[in-house]
Amino acid sequence: MNPSNPQTHAAASAQAPPTEARPSNFVRDIILADLQTSKYGGRVQTRFPPEPNGYLHIGHAKAICLDFGLADEFGGHTNLRFDDTNPQKEETEYVESIMQDVKWLGFHWDGLFYASDYFDQLYEWAVQLIKAGKAYVDDLSADQIREYRGTLTQPGKDSPYRNRSIEENLNLFERMRAGEFPDGSRVLRAKIDMASPNLNMRDPVMYRILHAEHHRTGNKWCIYPMYDYAHGQSDSLEKVTHSMCTLEFEDHRPLYNWFIQQLGIFPSQQIEFDRLNLTYTLLSKRKLLQLVQEGHVSGWDDPRMPTLVGIRRRGYTPEAIRNFCNSIGVSKTNGVIELAMLEHFVREDLNKRAPRVMAVLRPLKVVIDNYPENQVEQMDAVNNPEDPRAGTRKVPFSRVLYIEQDDFRENPPKQYYRLSPGREVRLRYGYFITCANVVKNDKGEIVEVHCTYDPATRGGNSPPDGRKVKATIHWVAAAHAIDAEARLYETLFTKEDPNQTEAGQDFTANLNPRSLEVIHDARLEPSLANPAVGERYQFERLGYFSVDRDSKPGRPVFNRTVALKDTWARIEKGAERSQRGKG
Ligand code: ATP
Ligand code: MG
Repeated sequence: MNPSNPQTHAAASAQAPPTEARPSNFVRDIILADLQTSKYGGRVQTRFPPEPNGYLHIGHAKAICLDFGLADEFGGHTNLRFDDTNPQKEETEYVESIMQDVKWLGFHWDGLFYASDYFDQLYEWAVQLIKAGKAYVDDLSADQIREYRGTLTQPGKDSPYRNRSIEENLNLFERMRAGEFPDGSRVLRAKIDMASPNLNMRDPVMYRILHAEHHRTGNKWCIYPMYDYAHGQSDSLEKVTHSMCTLEFEDHRPLYNWFIQQLGIFPSQQIEFDRLNLTYTLLSKRKLLQLVQEGHVSGWDDPRMPTLVGIRRRGYTPEAIRNFCNSIGVSKTNGVIELAMLEHFVREDLNKRAPRVMAVLRPLKVVIDNYPENQVEQMDAVNNPEDPRAGTRKVPFSRVLYIEQDDFRENPPKQYYRLSPGREVRLRYGYFITCANVVKNDKGEIVEVHCTYDPATRGGNSPPDGRKVKATIHWVAAAHAIDAEARLYETLFTKEDPNQTEAGQDFTANLNPRSLEVIHDARLEPSLANPAVGERYQFERLGYFSVDRDSKPGRPVFNRTVALKDTWARIEKGAERSQRGKG
């Protein structure tokens, strides 16, 4: 199922695949124990059950890696099942995106199912429960039901409709189905225990009336099963052995088991694990939808979004996401993971695979006065020092170049070793150059930096006299440069916990006004004239970038996936801080 793990392993000899480390986790331990006792005849069957009411996010990736990863590891199977029991919020657009996202992450489902496939069977089972005196039709309103349910400290009260005869219940339930009653007028409830310490066991609702068109069953149904009634039975129908879900369902497990027991069907078991929470990130489809609908982002695939379509467009790789998910593991308590950790895995993966290129985001013109006017040299540049097979390429060098504005200071502060008047630096793969003087416009802004070069340093190598320089900077030859747009991102929110707000505000108050910076006049080396959408590169010294789908022929658009660690920025920030401290 997972392409990086083509061979399936026998249960006893489960081995970690070579490329992705799999630390031990408690869910695996449960599966191992079940295999040992042959609880399910040595079978492992899991499912990933998204509700198609939005795009998947990085939290879902954790669940996917667990559901598919563990089945994979034990030669088992995984179904993709759309949990489509709420017709009002669900759309085919989401179904399609979810399938693409799962495949993009590198997983392949065995069965493709929809909870709505089981509507007939679920209805029959409801009738069976009514006949057994285990379910009843209740006419209380939603508010009354809540009121009657009691609280954690007070037991609930029986509904006056709780003791309806089986005949009356059958008749009313049939008429609910036939569409005789308006939305919200009646529900079907399981008859369990209104005094249970677990609120979920106080006669939970099984069916509600909703005259709404369903994305698959159309207008066939006007009653829809609740999650708790549909989920365990769907698992059971698919003979799911290990049904993993997030911790908020822990209190629902007795109900999950109750339905299965009453119906005497295949005993799937629910196992809860911790939700992924990430700093500076919201992982809730409802809130992500709000960001899209209110126009705070350009869409579900805005590269600042934590959706899989968003981070894919940003340039994250499926390998990086899988490595991240495997390394965080699962536990029985909710916590918060640093966004920096996810970025670490992205850098680690891109470092291995991304070709290096030279690009200048904020160009400053450099003229090498002693370099022949019309000469162009093709310099050898290494494509990826981490991967010798990536080979080399030629980069043109000529008299007029661009360097980063940041790589030049007319009055360099202490510890600044890059170009400045009288200072010599190395142009990577080029030559050593020394700054002679600057030319300014009438506003006093530097428009050109004039330098001389040392022909004995071709390729950026030290000259025979062994002279050393302290800085190496990147550059692009002006006449050959490709014009490009670059989009730089910061976190979408300014707060580690975007939900932390003042009274009367919602999380949008924490949006980061600087989360997107667009650079319109970046200059790239000519090898980047027409890169394929989705290709990823390291712009030397600037970060990893990927080609956006907004690219036009001859004018690529790049998203910065993640920056490299910039030591200078840290020194400078530290200096600023100590300056402020003194003042
Ligand atoms: P949301 O609140 O974003 O809508 P959800 O849990 O309602 O999330 P589902 O589509 O029902 O979304 O989730 C499908 C599966 O993914 C479930 O098993 C769910 O527990 C899991 N899942 C969802 N969010 C996370 C998360 N942040 N971390 C781990 N697993 C998650
Ligand atoms: Mg949900």
